[in-house]
Amino acid sequence: MRDTITILGVQVDNITRDEAGDITEKLIKESNKTCKMVFAPNVEFIMMAQKDKEFFDLLQESSLSTPDSIGVMIGAKLQKKFFKERIPGQSYFRKIIELSNEKGYSIYLLGGEPGIPEKTKENLEKLFPNVNIVGVHNGYFDENEEREIIKEINTLQPNVLFVALGAPRQEKWIKEHKGELKVDVAAGQGGTYDYEAGKIKRAPVWVQKIGMEWFWRLCREPRRIKRQLVLPVYLFKVMFAKDKTKGRFSK
Ligand code: UDP
Repeated sequence: MRDTITILGVQVDNITRDEAGDITEKLIKESNKTCKMVFAPNVEFIMMAQKDKEFFDLLQESSLSTPDSIGVMIGAKLQKKFFKERIPGQSYFRKIIELSNEKGYSIYLLGGEPGIPEKTKENLEKLFPNVNIVGVHNGYFDENEEREIIKEINTLQPNVLFVALGAPRQEKWIKEHKGELKVDVAAGQGGTYDYEAGKIKRAPVWVQKIGMEWFWRLCREPRRIKRQLVLPVYLFKVMFAKDKTKGRFSK
């Protein structure tokens, strides 16, 4: 049985980073290339899901949903429930990279601007000499290229496919191609490669610790303001919802 906390209809697993790693390993062992979906819901996800039924529905189909943001923790607290730990997207990504380094799990990196997944691979291979990244492709492709990418992924049959195309596109892409992708696990990954490749710097650890990384990102990328304006609306919605576990499209 999964231990989940549901916020406005979006289920999020109540797990630690190590447990997220254990669950992913279990999925790898049991999946038999059936593409189990792993998502990392944050406030933007939950709010987008209130407007987009397709997105709302597919988030319920995940095999694992990691609690990505401070807003998700607050959404739980408002229900007097408490997540064991926050697992930022990059932290989950690194956990799987560590497991690959230790146990040889194969990984494919899809997404990011041209050169970014390549640089991510290069940097990770310096840090984790035994990491097994078997393929990369940027996230700017047309339909013909998409066919070629899927063919390549299916030839390589990685254990884990990371998809970083921005939300909700990456989650919808995984769902759309789930039936044909010969991978054990496909995980939506957001902007992680931009950090791993050194394109964007993460906030200093003390800023991360006090839960202000969102503010740091906002200062460095002011275009994010539109995206972060959903936070007060979200808090208002959760605070005043009669049933905080139910979302717009909940049955
Ligand atoms: N991206 C992509 N193809 C696209 C649009 C976006 O590969 O058509 C990549 C983009 O380069 C970035 C990631 O998707 O690396 C999305 O990052 P975003 O900042 O939206 O993610 P977040 O970390 O906020 O979830």
